[in-house]
Amino acid sequence: MVGIPQGSPISPILYLFYNVDLLENCENIRLRMSATGFMDDINILTYSESTEQNCLKLAEIHKKCQSWAGKHGSKFCPDKYELIHFSRTKKKFNMSAEIKLGDQSIGPKSDIRILGVRLDSALRWQAHMRAIKAKSVHIISALRMITGSTWGSSLETSKEVYKTAIRPAITYAASIWHTPHGVKGHRKGIGVKLQKIQGKCLRTIAGAYKATSTEALEIETFTPPLDLHTERLATRAIARIRMTKAATGIKKMCKQICRQTTGKRGRTATPRSSPADRTNTWADQFTSEPQEAQQTNKNVPPWEKNQEPRHNKRLSRLYEGLTSHYNERWKDRWKSGKKGAHSRNLWSHPTERTIEAHMGLKKHESALLTQLRTGKIGFNAFLYEMKVPNILSPNCDCPREESMTVEHILLNCPKWSTEREELIHPLRTTDIKEILTSKRGAKAAIRMIQRTKILDQFKRAVDQDIEQRLRDENREEEEVRMEEEE
Ligand SMILES: [Zn+2]
Repeated sequence: MVGIPQGSPISPILYLFYNVDLLENCENIRLRMSATGFMDDINILTYSESTEQNCLKLAEIHKKCQSWAGKHGSKFCPDKYELIHFSRTKKKFNMSAEIKLGDQSIGPKSDIRILGVRLDSALRWQAHMRAIKAKSVHIISALRMITGSTWGSSLETSKEVYKTAIRPAITYAASIWHTPHGVKGHRKGIGVKLQKIQGKCLRTIAGAYKATSTEALEIETFTPPLDLHTERLATRAIARIRMTKAATGIKKMCKQICRQTTGKRGRTATPRSSPADRTNTWADQFTSEPQEAQQTNKNVPPWEKNQEPRHNKRLSRLYEGLTSHYNERWKDRWKSGKKGAHSRNLWSHPTERTIEAHMGLKKHESALLTQLRTGKIGFNAFLYEMKVPNILSPNCDCPREESMTVEHILLNCPKWSTEREELIHPLRTTDIKEILTSKRGAKAAIRMIQRTKILDQFKRAVDQDIEQRLRDENREEEEVRMEEEE
């Protein structure tokens, strides 16, 4: 007896040897049959003029699989089988065709999960987006367990958690389900949904009010819009695949399928462009290589041609190009956008400088700084705008009768001249932008607001807002849960 410990890295490799002939059994381009498998997760794809015909073929191949199982000491469990028909012209086909396996029949589903991606029968990704939304509810509640607006891990740390654990979970397999902007098949709705999820996460990370726009929070935490980030990942994946031999294989296969499904006897089929073709053409702008680079490649001795470093160098050059392209798009979007007016006055473009002032701050200090910079802070001007009960005017109760804004408190309000003298005066500036955007100024502003205790006076109003926020969010979570159950 030879045993391998569970989870050993050798076992997936051995498994490839074990079930290779099972996959080969299911692979036949002439029979329009193709299979993919990862460990014991096998997917068989077949295509023809009708769904009934597909079902018959699958039942046939099932017999072959059964005989393989008999020889290899395996057993399949038909209760776990899932069937889905793919078509965008559903009226043309019998979308409820079933597979008959002896006395058992397997009916089709509207969406199925393959290696963590939800495929729906029209490949429009609504089911996958629903799954992401549902996942995000759990993720956000987990995030709220480690940080709140006045307690828990710092903005710096929770941003790191977001970047390394949360965002990758949301954007997982983006190259499959995200069609870039400007390519036919791009869905605006997906971008909007992704932005909404990111907004919720960043609001928790920064300790900001619900009224704070996602755009302003992205600037404050220096986190690119999620739809742009997702698109960058998708493009990166396309670029990476195109640089390998797999690209030619995929292209060949797509062409063959296209020919087989559109060709009628006696007529040559005109190959239609597939979504992959369209995305590829679009990706050319990033992946076409400079002529010079290709020529120098010719002079490289054959034993060096396929060496990793060279390949990596090409790829990293590409990645750099992509990153700067998407940074430019973020910049343009921020410039032409309208949300986040207060932040817009402070920052003309996205910059890492925003996050510098947060370094080393405790969570409640970072939350206060975010609120000062975004203008969504518990002062009358904002509370009045938010129609908070008992706030009857936007004005400060000092003799100057000015609107109670960040600028008024930090620079003008006569009630706080002692604090101002001590904390703001040494900065030698009365420019609110200079104060709030510099590390030293930000620290002074935070200290001053803490000393005035104004926010404590409004704590009740703030608490009410938080309560409302929680109620709203619970309701949203409930909606998602109900959607899931449907
Ligand atoms: Zn005042």
